Order: sequence, then C-alpha cells, then structure tokens
Amino acid sequence: MTDKQTTALALYSGGLDSTLACRVVAEQGIKVVAVKFVTPFFGYDLLLKKQEYIEESKEKFGIDVILKDVTVPYLELLKKPAHGFGRYFNPCIDCKIFLLAEAKKMMPEIGASFLVTGEVVGQRPMSQRRDALRAIERDSGCEGILLRPLCAKNLKPTRAELDGLINREQLLAFSGRNRTPQMKLAERFGITDYPSPAGGCILADPILSARIQKYYRQNQKIVPEDILLLMVGRQFRLPSGGWLVVGRDEKQNEKIEALRRPDDWLLQPSVIPGPTAILRHSTDAEELETAAAIVTRYAKKSALVDGTAIIIAERRGISREMEASALDDCILKPWLQR
Ligand code: SF4
Repeated sequence: MTDKQTTALALYSGGLDSTLACRVVAEQGIKVVAVKFVTPFFGYDLLLKKQEYIEESKEKFGIDVILKDVTVPYLELLKKPAHGFGRYFNPCIDCKIFLLAEAKKMMPEIGASFLVTGEVVGQRPMSQRRDALRAIERDSGCEGILLRPLCAKNLKPTRAELDGLINREQLLAFSGRNRTPQMKLAERFGITDYPSPAGGCILADPILSARIQKYYRQNQKIVPEDILLLMVGRQFRLPSGGWLVVGRDEKQNEKIEALRRPDDWLLQPSVIPGPTAILRHSTDAEELETAAAIVTRYAKKSALVDGTAIIIAERRGISREMEASALDDCILKPWLQR
C-alpha cells in the first residue's frame, strides 16, 4: 500500500447525476477527473468555449473536466448500433458502451484505477434497466472497473470496492425514477444550478433525429459537416437536388456562415436585413436563382422594394448579385424538410 492518491475517471454529461457521482467519489479523498465526450449531437457547442467550460465546471461543481471530441467514430456507430435505437434515432445502449470503451482507453494516461458514471438502476427505460447496465459493462470491456456510486449498493461490488480503494458503505442505493434523493444530495453538496436530466441529446429530439436518420438512409458516406448543417435553420431540398439551409435568426445565420464549405454558395441579402443561407451540392445555375428567391422570402418584408431584394451569392471568391422576387409559399412548401 502506498500513499499515492487514487484517481478515478468519470464519464461526465454535465447533468446532475454525473455531477453527483463525481462528488460522491471525490468526497472519499479520491481524485476525480471527468471526461465529457462531445459529438454534433451533444455538447458540440462547448468546443467553441472550451476553456470557459472547464473553468466553470471547476468553479461551480469543483470538477476537473476534459472535453473530448469523438465525432468521427460516433458517426460510424450510428450506422448500425448492435442494440438498436430507442424511441427516436438514439442508440442509447451502444452510445454508453462506446463512451465507456473510449474512457477505458484513457485510463492509463490519466492514471485512473476505475471508471465512474452517474447511472441509476431503473431510472431510464432503455439504458438503465438492470440487464442493460450489465450488458453495457460487459460489452464495453469494463466489467469490475465501473463504479456507479449513486446506486452501487444495489449492484455487485466492483473491484475498487473490494480492493478498499473506496468505501462501499459511503456509496448510495438510489433506484428508479424518483429524483428526490438526487435533489437532496445536491442540496447537501450545495449544488443548485444544473441542467434538466432529459435535455441535451439531439438524437432523442423527435424532429432533428428524424432528419439525421433520413440522411443516414440516403447517404453511404456520412460527412460530419453535413450532419452539423442538418441541425440548423430551415432546410430545403430543391427540385434539381441542391440543399438549401436558411437561418432563422442572427445566431443561426452565424452558425450557417461558420459551416460553409468551399463548394457551397453563401447567400445574403445586400443592404436589407435577412437570413444567411448556404446552398450545397448545387450544379444547376437556375437553382441559385431559386435559392435567392427563397432568401428574399425570409428577408424583412417591409424592406423589400416591390417584393424584391438584391441577393449576393458568393462561392470560391466569385460573387454574383441577383435581383430576386420573394418566392411564393405554395411553391417552396413542398421543398421544405421537416
Ligand atoms: S440520450 Fe443521446 S447521449 Fe444519452 S445515451 Fe442516448 S444517445 Fe447517448
């Protein structure tokens, strides 16, 4: 036995349960490093304010967080998750298996003796049933090294408990959907400001997940930049095959502009207020005019001159100025994607 402090690596979502799990383990004098995996479906925006997020987690919850982008392998996983999907395009069991396996790979580098999650047996219908918890542990290769401190006393002791690295008696026996015990524990730790448990995963959002699922059905090659573009703005499939995305507000306009690729047309009204749009996969010159007419439709109505606007379209340094009339809703509606 040495005096070296034990280290645990926690899977961190930023929600209450994983925050509490970290704190329960840290309370026993264990150093907890938390990894927050991000993909376009959860946590992606944090990559833009990485340092701020890391500092905020430390300040608010006393947790050291590492952000890790796992987009590429995650997009592969979505092609055929072994345990299938939940209600929407959410592969919750495979998602957890994947993230745990990724965390396990990080253990040597962190010097972690075991892994921690905030799962609670019986809390979620699909991925937190007792048999699902066992399958997740087994299929991620984490048998014996995965501690779930919030419900540990309802599960078999893990290696960390058996080896005396952590005291099982001070772990918890939460189960089911009742959130009161978590609230009470949060109060004890002085945690007041945390996101709601269900929020956050786009794959569990009925509309956006349907879009993503459709993209998977229609495309062999899954392109991360396409996935990101799918999740913003009004989406149109134009009759000759182009994909037009039109911002709804300032924030979306900025996002759309940032997602622009070299082959995309970027469209914006000249002078008057209106949306930013991207036209992707367009090979048809007429289609650009249609796109300009759609952008005009969503520009500020009172600023149009006789129902028209000047739209600037730009691609690879080439700029085109077009006078476009607002396209009629009954024409554009069939092209609008859910
Ligand atoms: S809700 Fe999303 S992030 Fe959570 S387990 Fe399911 S797929 Fe993964």
